Amino acid sequence: MKVGIPKALLYYYYYPFWKKLFEVLGIETIVSSSTSKEIMDKGIEFSVPEICVPIKVFTGHVAALIEKADYILVPRMVSILKDEYFCPKFMGLPDMIRYTVPGAAEKILSPSIRSESDSISDPKHYSEFVDVLGVSAKELRRALKEAEKEWQRFRMLSKQGHVLSDIYRFLEEKEELPEITKEEDPFQVTIGLLGYVYNIYDEFVSMNIIKKLKELGVRIITFEMLDEGEIFRSIRFMRKRLFWTFSNKLLGAGYFFYNNPSVDGLIHVTAFNCGPDSLIGKMLELDSGQYEKPFMTIRVDEHTGEGHLLTRVEAFVDMIRRKKIKMRGALNHENNFSIYGNNAGL
Ligand code: SF4
Repeated sequence: MKVGIPKALLYYYYYPFWKKLFEVLGIETIVSSSTSKEIMDKGIEFSVPEICVPIKVFTGHVAALIEKADYILVPRMVSILKDEYFCPKFMGLPDMIRYTVPGAAEKILSPSIRSESDSISDPKHYSEFVDVLGVSAKELRRALKEAEKEWQRFRMLSKQGHVLSDIYRFLEEKEELPEITKEEDPFQVTIGLLGYVYNIYDEFVSMNIIKKLKELGVRIITFEMLDEGEIFRSIRFMRKRLFWTFSNKLLGAGYFFYNNPSVDGLIHVTAFNCGPDSLIGKMLELDSGQYEKPFMTIRVDEHTGEGHLLTRVEAFVDMIRRKKIKMRGALNHENNFSIYGNNAGL
């Protein structure tokens, strides 16, 4: 028996958990290959046109797995925090896939996750596994415990400041984790990179923005590197939080970045047709003046070109770097000392 795991949506948050779970249950898994034009085209073919890009991408990954796996994991993500929910597209995902991808109806494996924390290892979410996969309740409990341990290890590495792509290479290919860049250099540019994990870590969707920023020498901080407490403290000023947990996390991270002196600017990567993002993007953009930090939105759709992204990112980083140099120069001038001499023109 083989279970297919689409390399899309919450693959970028829960894959270490899923992988360990099936491994301990003795069930082989197959992950779809990274998003490509072919996968995107399949997703567009089978999805309703008005749906957001990440759901189209997920649909394309399911289509790519349909002939290769006996079951395909399409979880129904309802909640991971009390009184907050996932975006409705996550809740309806198994139904959307069932009715749009030919052959998917009989293959969908769909645990229903209604948790009160990010931890999703409660056996009650997985009762379907006992009937469909033929595992015993005892085996399932043991596998979930192991999966939880692996996932906690993964989250710890995130919170140490590693980007997910590096952590996955470390866990999967045993590659060494790169050293975390510290902000000791006063000219080091630090960007708060905001976006759902499935947007910023899917190299096709984000046009590999992380690699581009790293090549420009930028230190990157993303929401999943932050402590939950820090995130939610940052949006305590709101009279009412949003309905959607991951949107709250992004918003909280955004205000955390605004309030954190070591972050020089924010880039928000958002997908075309994302309802929650149209709200949080606007809120953060409107407040950027008040916090005196540059904020840039990169909106991706099925047709966004890479050249345009690179130019905008380079210009944004360059602007921040120049500002830092100028401020530093002024500071040093005040102290009667300039690293550029008294005529530093930057
Ligand atoms: S949060 Fe936005 S991008 Fe994510 S599934 Fe919902 S609409 Fe799509």
